[in-house]
Amino acid sequence: MLSYQHHFHAGNLADVHKHALLAWMLSYLTQKDKPLIYIETHAGRGIYDLSAPAARKTGEAARGIGRLHAAFAPTHPYAQVLDKLRGAQGDQAYPGSPLIAAHLLRPGDAIHLAELHPGEHAALKTALSPYRAKLYAQDGFELAHGLVPPTPRRGIMLIDPSYEVKSDYQDIPRHLAKINRAWNVGVLVLWYPVLSNGAQRPLRRGLAAAHPSGFGHEVHFAPARPGHGMQGSGLFVINPPFGLHTAAAEITGIFERLHDPRSEEDAGPDLC
Ligand code: SAM
Repeated sequence: MLSYQHHFHAGNLADVHKHALLAWMLSYLTQKDKPLIYIETHAGRGIYDLSAPAARKTGEAARGIGRLHAAFAPTHPYAQVLDKLRGAQGDQAYPGSPLIAAHLLRPGDAIHLAELHPGEHAALKTALSPYRAKLYAQDGFELAHGLVPPTPRRGIMLIDPSYEVKSDYQDIPRHLAKINRAWNVGVLVLWYPVLSNGAQRPLRRGLAAAHPSGFGHEVHFAPARPGHGMQGSGLFVINPPFGLHTAAAEITGIFERLHDPRSEEDAGPDLC
């Protein structure tokens, strides 16, 4: 039984980290005049209303995109998607990763999205209806293994589990290795939380050892609430696009400025 609902967390600091780098990679990969495939294993509902009770209850979006939107140059692909969506749907709309991809991809590109939760799946179907996306009410890893190697061969896969199933930490390296063997040119992007109990550390160490040319990037921030375990956000990218290191360094700078004591709230020490 799935209980995680992303609309409590949409637009939080982890989303800003993940979505900004995802948007940058998609924008970079679409510069080449060749078709691309976007595969997402854990898609969520595609669009979020940050004025809805769920988002207001946690206040995570206010501390996330609410504080950081202005830190992005208007030319950054993440800011461009956000501004376009908000121009059309109001300033409380927030794009999930599938909608970010749909905005940045071209008509000839392919989109495949898995979302298992029936309510989230139905909402995703509505949000993506203007686009030519294939949706699956199927386990995301099962879909990923079934699709690789995909046609076209150029592409990117986002793996963004909710880590509700604690065995995810042990199982994900095996999934990534198998997907990478079948699709050795695919850009594989894994998101993971940086937790106060350090549960992510073996995962991160294992990925770095198994994929030495992979790229890991973390940002750190104060917990959303006292006692909340998440103290940062991590991405591990296999086959990182050229220039990702520089794009990620810019994001590091944006998050470091949150720690500036002159900012309205000190985000606390760097914990990792
Ligand atoms: N990637 C989305 C974004 O950034 O906008 C957020 C995704 S959210 C962190 C994880 C989603 O995965 C939830 O909507 C949950 O219902 C879904 N989910 C959980 N287990 C799944 C599985 N085995 N296969 C596919 N989706 C699953």
